[in-house]
Amino acid sequence: MGDVVDYNDSVPRCGFCGKSERQVRKLVTGQGAAICDECIAQCVELINDDNDQDVKINALNLPKPSEIYAYLDQYVVGQPQAKRTLSVAVYNHYKRVNMEMGEGAHGSGAGMGMAAAASGASRKSGAAGAAKASADRRSGKQGADSLADVQVAKSNILLLGPTGVGKTYLAQTLARVMNVPFVIVDATTLTEAGYIGDDVESVLQRLLQAADGDVDRAQHGIVYIDEIDKIARKSGENASLTRDVSGEGVQQALLKILEGTIASVPLEGEGTRKHRDQNTVKMDTRDILFICGGAFVGLDAIVRKRLGARESGFTATFDERDESRADLLRQVDADDLGDFGLLPEFIGRLPVVSVLDELTEQNLRDILVRPANALIKQYRKLFAVDGVRLTFTDQAVAAIAAKAIREGTGARGLRSIIEKTLEETMFQLPEMNDVEQVIVDETAVSGEDVPKMVAADDGKRERLRLGKIRALG
Ligand code: ADP
Repeated sequence: MGDVVDYNDSVPRCGFCGKSERQVRKLVTGQGAAICDECIAQCVELINDDNDQDVKINALNLPKPSEIYAYLDQYVVGQPQAKRTLSVAVYNHYKRVNMEMGEGAHGSGAGMGMAAAASGASRKSGAAGAAKASADRRSGKQGADSLADVQVAKSNILLLGPTGVGKTYLAQTLARVMNVPFVIVDATTLTEAGYIGDDVESVLQRLLQAADGDVDRAQHGIVYIDEIDKIARKSGENASLTRDVSGEGVQQALLKILEGTIASVPLEGEGTRKHRDQNTVKMDTRDILFICGGAFVGLDAIVRKRLGARESGFTATFDERDESRADLLRQVDADDLGDFGLLPEFIGRLPVVSVLDELTEQNLRDILVRPANALIKQYRKLFAVDGVRLTFTDQAVAAIAAKAIREGTGARGLRSIIEKTLEETMFQLPEMNDVEQVIVDETAVSGEDVPKMVAADDGKRERLRLGKIRALG
């Protein structure tokens, strides 16, 4: 060992402070290097300080609920209550994740490998004294903090609302604002392990793929589970509406990943190329935010019955009151969800419940024209590539919204209505050089007439032709 650090004696010494084996409690030696316990402790503190900094930076990056709300508002029309609830829930979720990372930064110091400690020290040994002082300060502070041992539990989210009102879209937009990987899963395709179909680990597998194989990023992602109401157990009051598969088994299987578990995720697909040498990878689901959504047809009747039963004998029954479905759903409690067929444990893991309203005709009009990537803007862009200005009259916008309401498909139906309205035009237009503008009015939407094509004057026609040739070239 005398060849470790040669101070002209054969006693091994710490390569950082120069103290000999006899002057310290422990000297850890490696090939051609040695470090004493005191220097290790200081290095660990240095690294913890660095981690603290990282956590602070992350915390600073966390948008505030009002900022999340404002971002959602740019894309999602209406649904103010859901946007508010989700902004707060998502903020709290990632605040909790940040806090845990902070605690992890302190905790991991004790268990940090020597290699990490040594490499940190070689960079920053000069600041070791200051680091120690800051460590002392911190430990004093932590001792006094009565909340230090409090673990903040995860709050997954349940979204209730009819089809096409923005449940999936909200979750997707949230993932975009938080810049985390996102997947949409259909609960009806999930099965208990051992059955034919996707088992719940496949959800994590897909999230990992969305994170391009980065396990750490995947562990902070958002999973949207659609049609969660379809895995209600058959014995629920809503039995006749559920599928003929064991929904209860799927709920059981989901319980663990919803709460937080270390799951073994089988690897396959190109998204996991970073782990090519392994068959499975361990994923911790504790920090994954699960948002479950469903239409829950019949749940309003369950709520109404409960409220009516409670009220009867006092005032009018609830059937006589003019309460909308959404108003009833807003009063939903765990027992109602239990009656619907969700397991109590499952309900317990979805403590944040938010109700989305049916979209009004005005909402649908706004969806067509207002958001940053509004549907009509998208079609205008498509036409602009051919040098054609696409215009929808106000009456046309109103007619599309009214038609979607009549079809009862919410915002989902809007695109297909526009598609149908413009189909013939989009078929013919690429062959025509002389069209400057296409105008869609209400007669085009109703199918009584076709969208009007406005011809360009001669000069414009020539420019259009050249523009198209350039675009093709
Ligand atoms: P749900 O999950 O409630 O059945 P989606 O979120 O899948 O409905 O909505 C389908 C599509 O309709 C979305 O991709 C989006 O383009 C549009 N959409 C639905 N609701 C809204 C909304 N409130 N604001 C803007 N667009 C919406």
